[in-house]
Amino acid sequence: MVERATIRCENLSCLCEVSVDEATCSDYCSSPGGRDVAEVSCACGHAVCREAIEAQLHGGAGRESA
Ligand SMILES: [Zn+2]
Ligand SMILES: [Zn+2]
Repeated sequence: MVERATIRCENLSCLCEVSVDEATCSDYCSSPGGRDVAEVSCACGHAVCREAIEAQLHGGAGRESA
């Protein structure tokens, strides 16, 4: 079993995991625009990241009604 050290992408809006020496998952996330904290969604282009954000925004937490 290989252990890979991964960290969350340095872009706070991004939910990708990257290896420790990469810091960011994409050029988008390493650019100033990608790190804008006002940006709720991430446009790094990774499907995994997008799905993770969708899941966080829409639910699973049991707060369906407003
Ligand atoms: Zn991302
Ligand atoms: Zn990223």
